[in-house]
Amino acid sequence: MEWESVIGLEIHAQLSTRSKAFSGAATRYGAEPNTQACAVDIALPGVLPVFNEQAARMAVKFGLAIGAQINHRSVFARKNYFYPDLPKGYQISQYEIPVVAKGSLTIELDGHERLIGITRAHLEEDAGKSLHEDFHGMTGIDLNRAGTPLLEIVSEPDLRSAKEAVAYMKKLHQLVVYLGICDGNMQEGSFRCDANVSVRRKGDPKFGTRAEIKNVNSFRFVEKAIEFEIERQIDLIESGKSVVQETRLYDADKDQTRSMRSKEEAMDYRYFPDPDLPPLVVDEAFVREVQATLPELPDARRARFMSQYGLNRYDAGVLTSSREMAEYYETAVRESKGDPKIVANWIAVELSGYLNLDNKDIAESPVSAKMIAGLVQRIADNTISGKIAKEVLEAMWAGEGDADAVIAKKGLKQITDTGAIEKAIDEVIAKNTAQLEQYRAGKEALFGFFVGQVMKATRGKANPQQVNELLKKKLAG
Ligand code: ADP
Ligand code: MG
Repeated sequence: MEWESVIGLEIHAQLSTRSKAFSGAATRYGAEPNTQACAVDIALPGVLPVFNEQAARMAVKFGLAIGAQINHRSVFARKNYFYPDLPKGYQISQYEIPVVAKGSLTIELDGHERLIGITRAHLEEDAGKSLHEDFHGMTGIDLNRAGTPLLEIVSEPDLRSAKEAVAYMKKLHQLVVYLGICDGNMQEGSFRCDANVSVRRKGDPKFGTRAEIKNVNSFRFVEKAIEFEIERQIDLIESGKSVVQETRLYDADKDQTRSMRSKEEAMDYRYFPDPDLPPLVVDEAFVREVQATLPELPDARRARFMSQYGLNRYDAGVLTSSREMAEYYETAVRESKGDPKIVANWIAVELSGYLNLDNKDIAESPVSAKMIAGLVQRIADNTISGKIAKEVLEAMWAGEGDADAVIAKKGLKQITDTGAIEKAIDEVIAKNTAQLEQYRAGKEALFGFFVGQVMKATRGKANPQQVNELLKKKLAG
């Protein structure tokens, strides 16, 4: 029997506003506990929330980027539940009318594109944090995070595998970071995911009962958690049992999900419009103003890189993976005035190799776009060969200066003087008379041997093309 999995993601992106959603307290990460929680955040009696306009701007920006309808009038609601890190006893969220309505996102997996529906995106506030360590059997509460604005992005149950879910999550992550509305830092919890998973027999028009895996904060864990959950549900059904609708937690150490609580229904939360907050009104002028601040989006930029610079899909994808990367590339092309494809190769392949190795972001690269441009120029004007250029890049990465400085310091300038190359060839031939005889007797494969010897004798600096031409003549006798 063939099974199909059905997945829908709820992603919480923390909006990078400087102050909170409904108070003026700072949102900076990592401050001393409870130093960034004002009277509103700790819910002192008599306080009133005031909505942060920046958060609305960011939500609308996101909506426009996914081609969604923007609701000109949306409503804040109270979601009531009790938890020690929620001093008000309710979370301010949007329920019936969210600010962002239906949109979509195109994902790509193994060369295939799929359009994934986004049901809605709504504004809400984060809760505080419970600290279970260092309190000798008691729990500490840190309310610094309470009231931080979140955008909850809810997908349709359109995803069909753990890999698709990860591709969608990565695409969304790239987008919110591109838009500058979220820092995307997953370790700090700025971008986290609840995964809803169910299975059904292929061809069955009805969805199966789902489980919701809460708060997974890495791409790898999302993939593993979903994979585990799919297997668990299939096993249950195949052994004659059934899936219960519930909330589960992923345990990365054991690589399994376990039940946390039975799934609450919306009515359990007693949602109602928050009487302390007027509806959020974003008029046409506001939307147009936000529209004007939209950057070129990743997909559009990738397509442009392919047509304008003649790049292949892969390189164009790597070079538009972040705004910084795309800007780095375009600066390098401009500064070098060189072949955009060659510049692309030096960044997407060679430099990216070093970045990955040291787990660095392009913004932290010790080799600037200008320095890459300088390197490409020295290859183009034949000062160095492509092979030596790799050695130069290695030194540049190690902080030994720009291309010209490294070439001068290490004496890497290419030998293009015919006389000097001929002299090296003569010496190699004189030392290898046996091979010369064999070559002349018809063993042409030895040509490569001679090229290697000459390159070795010139420590790789002889111009390879000249070496080839001159060797051919000399070996012919
Ligand atoms: P809730 O708010 O109670 O979690 P929603 O109906 O808003 O419930 O759905 C939340 C998420 O669950 C959405 O991303 C949706 O796509 C997904 N979802 C709904 N039904 C299923 C299902 N049967 N299997 C997998 N995902 C589902
Ligand atoms: Mg949910």
